[in-house]
Amino acid sequence: MDYLSAPLPRRRSVAVNVGGVTVGGDAPVVVQSMTNTDTADIDATVAQCAALHKAGSEVVRITVDRDESAAAVPRIRERLLRLGHDVPLVGDFHYIGHKLLADHPACAEALAKYRINPGNVGFRDKRDRQFIDIVEMAIRHDKPVRIGVNWGSLDQELLTRLMDENQKKGFPMSADEVTREAIVQSALLSAELAEQTGLARDKILLSAKVSRVQDLIAVYTDLADRCDHALHLGLTEAGMGSKGIVASSAALAILLQQGIGDTIRISLTPEPGGDRTREVQVAQELLQTMGFRQFLPVVAACPGCGRTTSTVFQELARKIEDDLRRNMPVWREKYPGVEELKVAVMGCIVNGPGESKHADIGISLPGTGESPAAPVFVDGRKAATLRGDDIAAQFEAMVTDYIEA
Ligand code: SF4
Repeated sequence: MDYLSAPLPRRRSVAVNVGGVTVGGDAPVVVQSMTNTDTADIDATVAQCAALHKAGSEVVRITVDRDESAAAVPRIRERLLRLGHDVPLVGDFHYIGHKLLADHPACAEALAKYRINPGNVGFRDKRDRQFIDIVEMAIRHDKPVRIGVNWGSLDQELLTRLMDENQKKGFPMSADEVTREAIVQSALLSAELAEQTGLARDKILLSAKVSRVQDLIAVYTDLADRCDHALHLGLTEAGMGSKGIVASSAALAILLQQGIGDTIRISLTPEPGGDRTREVQVAQELLQTMGFRQFLPVVAACPGCGRTTSTVFQELARKIEDDLRRNMPVWREKYPGVEELKVAVMGCIVNGPGESKHADIGISLPGTGESPAAPVFVDGRKAATLRGDDIAAQFEAMVTDYIEA
């Protein structure tokens, strides 16, 4: 089993249509995200959904936690469509989802999918009834559901029952193993109940999020073995900054490499005032880095060293990448295949010309002690030597010309 050098074949899952976006089956792994605005604030939510969609989020989840939010959903959807953002919206329901969907049929209709957390749909005898109510609503409106288990809100009755059984058997499993089993069972039993209620298999997705990398890998590997439902991957409470990015990437990469996962969300705790679209960018970069999808041209840049005394090449690499990202929505339409482009921005001649020759277009900026000239390679051949104070601007113009040509 050589999955270090190549991904294992994708696990076979039942494809689900989420508002026109196929999740599972043979479809590429879908990138999704979630807003952090108050959904009742229509302006803010529309702006954030539009930004996430523009950044590449193929599905956007919004919180529907009260009547005001539910009433806002159809207006948000209309406004987004008017702005040209036909992005499927998923409603995230907890506690009173059954009531909100029943009281707001326009919301139920405007959403492309309902997320149900089986640990948060009610207690004891009410739980199954309220879960069934949401599933019946999904059937009535012909919508899929994601049964999204989260260990922070795990069904405590199920967990207690499994703990008791484990005790009676003499503790063959550790407490962590029982918890993981409860997470998996919660998802599977809920899916079974949804099917018994009449929801078709191609309307059910599952997720089972935990916050520790090894637990997440164990839970999803088990879940993937025990069902063929499409799986939504995500590490919950991944954390802030590089910690969140590394933890999510480590966990999701291992699962994706094993062919597990049909849609991903990278949950990053945003820095105060931080850009919410960062989670989309990280998700795209993860899939692209692993070779599963191609979203953006690759900008290869060297790390820099003592041969570079200025920061020109880092600034240029950053600028080129930002320009490409900003222009991609238009360029993708105008220049099919532009996402396959490879640009190299190198700090000196040690590795610069070699790396540049492997790119579609590459530049080797002058390092310390080198002549103040920057060779540019296009399609593997030296095409120009740039000089002067505006080498960066000249190269940017050459990249644009290359794409347009
Ligand atoms: Fe240093 Fe030059 Fe290598 Fe960049 S290409 S890391 S500047 S030696």
